[in-house]
Amino acid sequence: MADYPVKEIQDRTPLEVARTTNMDFIAKHGRLGRVRTVPFGFTPGSDIAQVTIFGYDPKKYYTGRGPLEAANLGVELGEDDVAFRCNLITASQDKLRDYSAGHISSREAQILINSIDENLGTNRIKFYPGISYRHLMVIKDGVQEGLDKTSCKPPHDITGKVIAKNLPKGDGSAMLIGLMEESRRILEKHEINLVRLDLKENPANMIWLWGQGKKPNMESFSSKYGINGSVISAVDLIKGLGKILGLQVINVPGATGYYDTNYEGKAQAALKALERNDFVFVHLEAADEAGHNGDLREKITAIERFDQIIVGNILKAFKGKSNFRIMVLPDHATPVSLKTHVADPVPFGIFGQNIVARGFSEYSEKEALKSDLYFDKGDELMDYFIRKAE
Ligand SMILES: [Zn+2]
Repeated sequence: MADYPVKEIQDRTPLEVARTTNMDFIAKHGRLGRVRTVPFGFTPGSDIAQVTIFGYDPKKYYTGRGPLEAANLGVELGEDDVAFRCNLITASQDKLRDYSAGHISSREAQILINSIDENLGTNRIKFYPGISYRHLMVIKDGVQEGLDKTSCKPPHDITGKVIAKNLPKGDGSAMLIGLMEESRRILEKHEINLVRLDLKENPANMIWLWGQGKKPNMESFSSKYGINGSVISAVDLIKGLGKILGLQVINVPGATGYYDTNYEGKAQAALKALERNDFVFVHLEAADEAGHNGDLREKITAIERFDQIIVGNILKAFKGKSNFRIMVLPDHATPVSLKTHVADPVPFGIFGQNIVARGFSEYSEKEALKSDLYFDKGDELMDYFIRKAE
């Protein structure tokens, strides 16, 4: 949701322009503040920012996106195992053309990954199919070869660049490069890719290994905060993080992680979850996608839908009750002018039991700057919200 002032809308931000009566209610009757969700030195992204928001210091607990996605797929990691994100990509002779192999379908991808596993898998190396171009490779006891520390580049950062210059570097890199190169031989001639070429679709002719790490040793959410709860999200790594923290992951039909997601279904699922547990975490991705697309109109629409359908329905259900608290915040900003994530602190709003109104006028970046509440160590915010806020 967070953004920079945009010229086309008179130097206001999408949050300032969007009609957000419910988040403004939280600002007026509660309190605003700012939080740094991406510590200095980290690449801004949901993987880091979400670990922070749940109250865990990424410096201590973030080991890579691979292990979070492994948890989502239900793949158990041993203490010394290393889990890699394994993309299916499109390579030309020497360049990386498409980090997503034309957003290949899960059905086609599954056949290709199974074929990779049959050919390159060993009793130590195993490939697991995921969704579309996003898969997993686990190396048993990979820590012993330093594979958790190998420097690997995210493929979406090197589109159009020369592959040879961007291959893994450091301990264990020779083994990873070997696997990536061998994958080309297996995939290039695969029937599925011959059909994709006929249809003028990008072939999935290589794997790309990155985002690796070992199992994170995180205390469960319930033992840390003394309450139990659920996570509602369409994004694999957030669902994986929820599982690692011992939270129940609720799958909502029609939750796509895109503009067309099932807002109403997510709101209803959240309310239903609160009948069983004390805590629910609801994540909406659409505003981030609009930011990546540089689409100001869709971003404003996504914010308005989030406000009306998610925040609005939840506030309505708790109207007249005093024994609850609600917090709203983005995990990071994705300015439409930049089309990518930035690490700037983001605004949050809290409202509910024992939280005294401080006279804020609306929920926005600018209004939050007036607050004296600022968490430079973002992982302290969740504990403040649950236990200390006043
Ligand atoms: Zn994003």
